Amino acid sequence: MSSLITDLLHQAGGTAVIDGGLATELERHGADLNDPLWSAKCLFSSPHLIRQVHLDYLENGADIIITASYQATIQGFKTKGFSEEECEALLRKSVEIACEARDVYYQRCAGCSSGEGVDGRILNHRRILVAASVGSYGAYLADGSEYSGNYGNAITVETLKDFHRRRVQTLADSGADLLAFETVPNKIEAQAYAQLLEEEDIKIPAWFSFNSKDGINVVSGDSVLECGSIAESCNKVVAVGINCTPPRFIHDLIVLLKKVTTKPIVIYPNSGETYDADRKEWVQNTGVTDEDYVSYVNKWCELGASLVGGCCRTTPATIKGIYRTLSTSQSSRRPMSKAI
Ligand SMILES: [Zn+2]
Repeated sequence: MSSLITDLLHQAGGTAVIDGGLATELERHGADLNDPLWSAKCLFSSPHLIRQVHLDYLENGADIIITASYQATIQGFKTKGFSEEECEALLRKSVEIACEARDVYYQRCAGCSSGEGVDGRILNHRRILVAASVGSYGAYLADGSEYSGNYGNAITVETLKDFHRRRVQTLADSGADLLAFETVPNKIEAQAYAQLLEEEDIKIPAWFSFNSKDGINVVSGDSVLECGSIAESCNKVVAVGINCTPPRFIHDLIVLLKKVTTKPIVIYPNSGETYDADRKEWVQNTGVTDEDYVSYVNKWCELGASLVGGCCRTTPATIKGIYRTLSTSQSSRRPMSKAI
């Protein structure tokens, strides 16, 4: 299972690029995400916008695109009146849309001999992975609890496994290359995911990505070392890391993760802006510029990160900056041609 990421990293010269924020880009394209389903609403309201955002990220250098299923849950879709079969079809659709974007991208690469489109688009035929996003239970609650990690005493590992089971099975059989368990806010949910992957004998690999608001612990206060160890001990997990966390905390978190894992480290922070969970919106102008963000990237890679991208409020411009800086620092990687 580990060969998937190993092969990708080999192809990319040691470091691969993940895409950037999906929901914030959908909004920029005019989508209305004011809904408990957030970006998953677009799976039935405007799938063409999701396809466009995936394509934008591919044309800005992403090697891995993450599907619009972060907040897509069977339980959440049912509240909108969908049947069980329709809910599962919507989950599969998130992967189909990403695969369609990849197909369109490959067609565009085939029509371009230089590796670069007229307006600076990167049309470099390379292996691209589709990662099916699995957001946390807190993301389904849509009450900001994926940023507190506080699920209350009634929630157990068993509850969380039951909550995620059918969705994980469906996404694993959808044609995705891997599962991205994202914004994991606490230890209990990491345990649930690890057990679920084993119990259901999930056939595609996964990464676990935690979030932190202090550079020491995950957002619940559970230790990053403990959370990373859970990921390390699960054979189905092929990478472990941090997402949706301000860039300033990433350095220390990589150092901590390196103490407990030998697996590739995945890093896709947010822009550093503050999220107001009560108002359900990002507070403007509290983050870092694209230039500052990209300036961190080489340091993260020196420390051991090997998959780097962006989460909320990062854009195709951020991802292109990451692609460019990694291309410059590793002259052997990705020649600007479609030779692969
Ligand atoms: Zn995020």
